[in-house]
Amino acid sequence: MAKTPRKPSQPAPARAAKPLSAAEVRHFIAALARANPQPRTELHYRDPFTLLVAVVLSAQTTDAAVNRATPALFAAAADAAAMAALGADGIAPFIRSIGLWQSKARHIAELARLLVERHGGKVPGERAALEALPGVGRKTANVVLNVAFGQPTMAVDTHIFRLGNRTGLAPGKTPRAVEEALLKRLPPETLRDAHHWLILHGRYVCKARKPECWRCAAAPFCHFSPKTKPPAGSAAGKTAWKGAYHAT
Ligand code: SF4
Repeated sequence: MAKTPRKPSQPAPARAAKPLSAAEVRHFIAALARANPQPRTELHYRDPFTLLVAVVLSAQTTDAAVNRATPALFAAAADAAAMAALGADGIAPFIRSIGLWQSKARHIAELARLLVERHGGKVPGERAALEALPGVGRKTANVVLNVAFGQPTMAVDTHIFRLGNRTGLAPGKTPRAVEEALLKRLPPETLRDAHHWLILHGRYVCKARKPECWRCAAAPFCHFSPKTKPPAGSAAGKTAWKGAYHAT
């Protein structure tokens, strides 16, 4: 997961686009689906517990940074009981390269302890139980419910918040408003994968500072204007989006 979007009290981006029509929404998400048929989270994990820990660690940090830290951490503590036994002081040395490592070490130690105490060491598949854990907010719960439990949730991070407004896919002044608009507007059968399509699209193509419209599969259905042009001398063609959804 990427950075947390602006707080609900903060205004939406100035350039929120006119909402896409229902047909344009269908075409937009179908274009992303064709470009990236098997989307996956970029966080490395083995099971719901390691996914939960990785997502908590990813707040305000890149997935790549989390993936560099977690192999050694999970080798030392592969489940909730072992993580609780490790404790915050034992977790900290493994995650010092990650932003907010001190508070994250405390949260992970405590959430592991609570998983053992309340859920027999398992990660619960219910939103309220997840959000009752330290360090777990709505966005983290949405990722876990979607990826580990296959629920059609939408975790709105900074990329999806920007994309929903910039393109007209789901304009909204807060992350929650964008989440609800996406859940309402996207075809139900796409909801399981849509969160990955949109995050990866925002991360690699519809970038924050300058979207790369010239290589965007969804450009014909997007209301952002004017679209950006390819860099001078680029051999961009109609299929430039192929292979676009990977770290470089
Ligand atoms: S056309 Fe440009 S603004 Fe619209 S989704 Fe694609 S990259 Fe983003």
